[in-house]
Amino acid sequence: MPELPEVETICRELAPLVAGRRITGFELFWERTLRGIEPRDFQQRITGRSVRCLNRRGKYLVFNLDDGYSFSVHFKMTGSLVAGSSDGHVPPYTRALFRLDNSTVLYFTDPRKFGRIDSLSSGLHPITKLGPEPLGDGFTVDCLVGLLAGRRAPVKSALMEQKLIAGIGNMYADEALYLARIHPLRPAESLNPAETAALHSAIREVLLAAIERKGATVSNYTRPGGEAGRAQEGFKVAHRRGAGCPCCGMPLERITVRQRGTYLCPRCQK
Ligand SMILES: [Zn+2]
Repeated sequence: MPELPEVETICRELAPLVAGRRITGFELFWERTLRGIEPRDFQQRITGRSVRCLNRRGKYLVFNLDDGYSFSVHFKMTGSLVAGSSDGHVPPYTRALFRLDNSTVLYFTDPRKFGRIDSLSSGLHPITKLGPEPLGDGFTVDCLVGLLAGRRAPVKSALMEQKLIAGIGNMYADEALYLARIHPLRPAESLNPAETAALHSAIREVLLAAIERKGATVSNYTRPGGEAGRAQEGFKVAHRRGAGCPCCGMPLERITVRQRGTYLCPRCQK
């Protein structure tokens, strides 16, 4: 599933293609991909408008139009936005497409169909309930201390709770906890100040490294031009069950934390 680094990469690579462009058409092929607005209303709302800018919030990509209207894309398990041209063929699993005035077509492809395009016109959008951005100035060690305080849930689950911190999912939670040498099943409230500081710095480090490598392609994620990301090449534990721990050589384990596959070193992470 695309997490913060993958959505940030999509945002940065798509922005030059769509910023300032006028939307000339929208087509929907899977009705449930569009939420919060009727397909015909959405089509009328965005056709003829220009894209002022794109931005990312948590795992959401937000299109801001010139008249103040915004809509979001959430990629969920297998969604991608692929930039093509109007004379090219429609990629498999296309659930919606946007036509732009420079004959670029943005295809929203999504084999599993969990991804969604949401109108941001109502105040009920889940984006309004997201926690702080972990790469933002407001995300300090003190902030993380406050977020984890009083939580008995496993620290891994707390990291993935979007209302607490926006944008961290399964892969980067595992990577950050490994780097901070914290066992994923530790209750969030049990971390001491040194551990919390280590986790804070590990979160930023793994996210920045993954953005640098244009996100991780471990299953369906592709960049808007169709290229893969390379962040998985830098993973220390995620998706590496049975490989040796880069620090101690012990075989890495995969356990389940609240139904999510979780990779760790049983020796380094206490
Ligand atoms: Zn180890």
